[in-house]
Amino acid sequence: MCAAAVDKICVIGVGLIGGSFARALKRGALCGHIVGCGRSEQSLRRALELGVIDSYSTRPAEAVAGAGLVMVATPLGAMREVFSAICPALDAGAVVTDAGSAKAAVIEAVVQACGRLPANFVPGHPIAGTENSGVEASFAELFDRHRVILTPLPQTSPDALALVRGLWQQIGAEVTTMDVDEHDQVLAATSHLPHVLAFALVASLAHRSERQKIFDYAAGGFRDFTRIASSDPRMWRDICVDNSRALLDALREFRADLDQLAAAIEARDGDRIIEVFSAAKQARDQFVADKRKRPGS
Ligand code: NAD
Repeated sequence: MCAAAVDKICVIGVGLIGGSFARALKRGALCGHIVGCGRSEQSLRRALELGVIDSYSTRPAEAVAGAGLVMVATPLGAMREVFSAICPALDAGAVVTDAGSAKAAVIEAVVQACGRLPANFVPGHPIAGTENSGVEASFAELFDRHRVILTPLPQTSPDALALVRGLWQQIGAEVTTMDVDEHDQVLAATSHLPHVLAFALVASLAHRSERQKIFDYAAGGFRDFTRIASSDPRMWRDICVDNSRALLDALREFRADLDQLAAAIEARDGDRIIEVFSAAKQARDQFVADKRKRPGS
């Protein structure tokens, strides 16, 4: 019996996030049976060998049968197809949640796939991850003391929300709720924009004729700034496409600030440059100090 009052949990998309969710449930002995679902039988077999799941199916409708809770942790681009397959097959009362990084797009995909927004659907987004993908990269501690944002809608059932919130809390996460648009704007600025900048910087340097020399002489600063450019390009393509409005707003604001900084450099305006850099250092130092007080969040 699961501590969260569900016997069987189905994880669709047993990769970094879905696999880590399943591992965390197992670590806490929170669920009797976890069924995994995905497209690749090979990776599901690997998940079974690793003890991440207890059984699997490549057919979503079959996988969700008898599950009290379904976690959809596929790439954003697959959400509509997955919800189309599971909506008619869910047990009465089954609660469904997801881990997608852009919430308005997932909600729209669910409405298109199911014809309405089911009351038992609780949109969610764990604010945790690494630049690695797949079940091999998953680990039980990924969500420990990390935030999970739930974006319930007026029609979301309070019981479904309580179940999803409780489960995340039991696996060690800190749960907050947010309005859908606010989530997409905040994450565009804090996560999606930095990823776009890291990808853009490395791509820009990589196609220059002197790229070999540039990369040969790149040191810790380059490595730190560009770590996230090793993330899965398809996952980030989906995020850019699915959160394009908020991301473009963030990019426009950033471009205006960058233009101002370029103008200060061109004018050799040292005072302005130190003003910008000092404000940045202060904000970054504060961010790091806050993280030390609340690691993982
Ligand atoms: P991943 O590539 O590690 O895992 C995705 C899994 O989904 C894979 O096992 C893949 O085989 C499976 N899959 C792909 N298409 C499918 C389909 N049509 N049906 C069933 N399974 C399918 O990716 P991830 O990093 O775990 O990301 C999963 C979701 O979590 C994404 O929606 C992403 O936006 C979100 N997310 C990612 C991070 C991160 O840092 N990686 C953080 C928070 C949220």
